[in-house]
Amino acid sequence: MPAVMEKQVADLQLQLEKQCLINQELQRQNKELEQRLQEKEKLLQSLQSQYQDLADFPSQCSIESEPEFRKSRAAVIASEPIPEKLEIAASTVKKSGSETALIVKAIQKNDFLSRLDEEQIAMMVDLLRASNCKPGEEVIKEGCEGDSMYIVAAGELIVTQAGQDLRTLNVGDVFGELAILYNCKRTATVKAKTLVRLWCMERQTYRTIITNKSKKKREQLMGFLKTSRTLKDLNDVQLSKIIDSMEEVKYQDKEVIVREGAEGNAFYIILKGEVLVTKNVNGHQKQIRRMGKGEHFGEQALIREVLRTATCTTDGPVTCFSIDKEVFEETIPVEHLELFDDSKVMQEAETPAKSLPSSTLRFKDLVPVLYQEGRFQGDPVTLGVGGFGRVELMTTINHGKYYAMKRVSKKQIVAKRQEEHMLFEKKILRAIQCDFIVRLYATFKDTRYIYMAMEFCSGGEIWTKLKEVGRFDEPIAVFCTACVVEAYAYLHKKNIMYRDLKPENLMLDQRGYIKLVDFGFAKELMRGDKTYSFVGTPEYMAPEIIKNQGHDFAVDFWSLGILIFELLVGSPPFSSSEPQKIYAKILDGELKYPPYMGEAAKSIISKLCRPRPGQRLGNTKNGIKDVRHHRWFSSMNWHKLRMGQLEAPTVRLIRKGPCYINFDRFPLDHTKADEDFSGWDREF
Ligand code: ATP
Ligand code: MG
Repeated sequence: MPAVMEKQVADLQLQLEKQCLINQELQRQNKELEQRLQEKEKLLQSLQSQYQDLADFPSQCSIESEPEFRKSRAAVIASEPIPEKLEIAASTVKKSGSETALIVKAIQKNDFLSRLDEEQIAMMVDLLRASNCKPGEEVIKEGCEGDSMYIVAAGELIVTQAGQDLRTLNVGDVFGELAILYNCKRTATVKAKTLVRLWCMERQTYRTIITNKSKKKREQLMGFLKTSRTLKDLNDVQLSKIIDSMEEVKYQDKEVIVREGAEGNAFYIILKGEVLVTKNVNGHQKQIRRMGKGEHFGEQALIREVLRTATCTTDGPVTCFSIDKEVFEETIPVEHLELFDDSKVMQEAETPAKSLPSSTLRFKDLVPVLYQEGRFQGDPVTLGVGGFGRVELMTTINHGKYYAMKRVSKKQIVAKRQEEHMLFEKKILRAIQCDFIVRLYATFKDTRYIYMAMEFCSGGEIWTKLKEVGRFDEPIAVFCTACVVEAYAYLHKKNIMYRDLKPENLMLDQRGYIKLVDFGFAKELMRGDKTYSFVGTPEYMAPEIIKNQGHDFAVDFWSLGILIFELLVGSPPFSSSEPQKIYAKILDGELKYPPYMGEAAKSIISKLCRPRPGQRLGNTKNGIKDVRHHRWFSSMNWHKLRMGQLEAPTVRLIRKGPCYINFDRFPLDHTKADEDFSGWDREF
């Protein structure tokens, strides 16, 4: 090669190398910029959420104890038994027009109470009873458990906290309202300053009456639906589902509900008022009949394409319960409508799970695993501390296997009336064999504690991981949620509701697969039945629980939507430092998505978090299949997931090191629980 060319080649090479270097540098800068952008975004997010907190921050002091804010672990609310029947009539108190007006105004002014149904508010107005206080008298006391809410009818009261005056309460102010939902500690004292007249209501009264009323209403609606010829072949489970999908609609006098000749697309039951049915005869409206409470119209529209054959007009104000065709088709397979006998399919006997052979694991074979280094070196490893006890890491003498051993004080269980929950947690966990639910190998007891030896999930809690990274990227969120969907499919098939979904109750095993732990709130429920307890974690509670309307498996789908949101965003959609504000937001149901959230994610969340349980994804006619088939899961191979053949994207969240590396560390607990001989744990 001539020298000139050689030089040219060398030059070119040099230039190329330079360009390469420049490229590399640009790439590096790019990456740096990207990283900075990400950091900024995170900062923005945290600022936004701080701003939100500020905006949410109570302008007035709240009287109830506040579950910790979502930045920390969620507080749980355990149910208490609902007292036996209370007659509504026996508990109502007559009120004058001005008294009623004052109460209604007070309720409307209150964040939480104003969001209850009109009917519930009306009932509250009826139930409030009067009481008087002398100056200096304490109405509620800081630190005590609350059982009533109050509205000031006359006089002035003063609110103090830790001896400091906070504010005064005047006519029309509400206080202690959270106590009508569940028992919570008061965080302030309220004392009468002058002679005071109060309207007050106890939780027991309120809950019992609301519950019984909701039950009665369902029974009544069921009766109405059964008079429909089109629906007569449906069984109770299906009718119950239809009720869950129906909505109340109000009409004023002389409003046309359906018009002759128009396309029919909804079915109506009259709950209140009267409707005139007319037909066009030679240009004149001819009255055919008059319908009243319990009667229905438009049923044909549910199963056929029909034009309305008559006009229905209200005569005075009317309230209807209605379902439109689209929702109806989502709820019930239309092809089942003519001849149908589903009772056997729905109640198909579950083959009982093979319960584990009474385990060969013996208490005396288990020894604690000790911290190998650090501050607590030589102490037993504690994996977590729960509401009633702690979970410690154990191993067998021959070091075959690790176990997470939950130890719970028997005395405390009795004190908090959680015996039923505890026995049920054991019963359920022993019967369960699902790869997405923690295994329970054996239970033991002594005079102080009960013990549960569980499978050890070495990857730690999803909660911890989420707090470490702020929020999960979509593949991780999809994977975690898919595992939960599989656990749900298993549980719901066995007619068990979980009712305590949240990142704190999701553990990672060593392969990054998710397992549900903590079955304290799980409950067995017959299909078509409802339960009325107030349980769960405020941020994850479905609206029907807050409204005491009776709930079922649908609450698990609501919480699934909340979980997806929290995994993708880092905090749940309805949150506040004050529980009553959380409940108000849930009842509003307005979901605000951050700009970075994908279309599919928004879609699945809004479908899971529909206020009407019957319209919720997972609870419509195809059941959990609809969840699996949603496009947010389009990349999920469900079969491989079930077989454990998928590589979990969560593995990169798991740290390597000693077996307890993915857990917080806890100091040794030197206290010993008191002995308990009450015998509630006989079956344990
Ligand atoms: P809570 O106050 O939530 O009701 P709890 O007393 O019911 O608590 P769990 O939630 O069952 O207790 O467990 C407490 C903690 O112990 C968990 O959050 C988790 O960190 C840890 N833990 C529980 N089970 C396991 C397990 N199988 N493997 C590893 N760690 C576990
Ligand atoms: Mg827990």
